[in-house]
Amino acid sequence: VGVAGVPVGGPDLVLIAGPCAVENEEQTLRAAHAVRAAGAHLLRGGAFKPRSSPYSFRGLRKDGLAILARAREATGLGVVTEVLTPEDLPVVGPIADLLQIGSRNMHNASLLEAVGRYGRPVLLKRGYGATVREWLLAAEYVLAQGNPHVVLCERGIRTFETATRNTLDLNAVAWARRHTHLPVVVDPSHGTGRRDLVSPLSLAAIAAGGDGLLLEVHPDPHDALCDGDQSLTCEQLTSLVPGLRRVGEAVGRSWFPVPLYPRWVAEAAAR
Ligand code: PEP
Ligand code: MN
Repeated sequence: VGVAGVPVGGPDLVLIAGPCAVENEEQTLRAAHAVRAAGAHLLRGGAFKPRSSPYSFRGLRKDGLAILARAREATGLGVVTEVLTPEDLPVVGPIADLLQIGSRNMHNASLLEAVGRYGRPVLLKRGYGATVREWLLAAEYVLAQGNPHVVLCERGIRTFETATRNTLDLNAVAWARRHTHLPVVVDPSHGTGRRDLVSPLSLAAIAAGGDGLLLEVHPDPHDALCDGDQSLTCEQLTSLVPGLRRVGEAVGRSWFPVPLYPRWVAEAAAR
């Protein structure tokens, strides 16, 4: 699946990183430059946020999308952002290089069909109470509309365990890699809910056959409006990437080259 020039599910590993939510331009641009410098290929950031409580921060919506577009212009990183409803697709679609369907919406057939018709690449998060079979059938809803560009994302499921926010199901990652043709990206941020567990589970996810990672990163996690406890600092992401590359090598994967700064491309073209 090609996303803004980055092949997801090819021979190379792909890193999608950025804040849970777009909070303001400064926060998003700082995160975007930092994750690019650390080796990320795509920028994540929610403008339309699904929250468990209606009183939590639910995103900057259209203003958030405009910030993401500016971050893409500044860094050259394609944008991964969530679409919550079919009605939002005309505003979110044009900004998203990869349209995220959240865990809570995995069973939303009308949204799945709408993104299927839209044709843009889709990141399909597994429902936190969904079996692997249900997850793949949700992918079929998108594929059946003639959109083949689906990336699966394991983001943890709800189990009896309470020590962590969710239980990252690496069985499902290894299973999906063997039994489907779709790329599989792993999200240890939501999978664990704890910053200190994100690095070890990221390494494990690559070892288990993940095609890439979706990681929450915030320049100042303690002030984050959403999911700060599970967000890596920019420095933590920078120290994690060399290990990811080494585990990747051990399982026969290399690291896709980081996109060039648009500024450099423009300067080179002018010369
Ligand atoms: C997110 O990626 O920030 C998010 C809301 O994820 P999920 O849908 O997996 O909870
Ligand atoms: Mn989040």
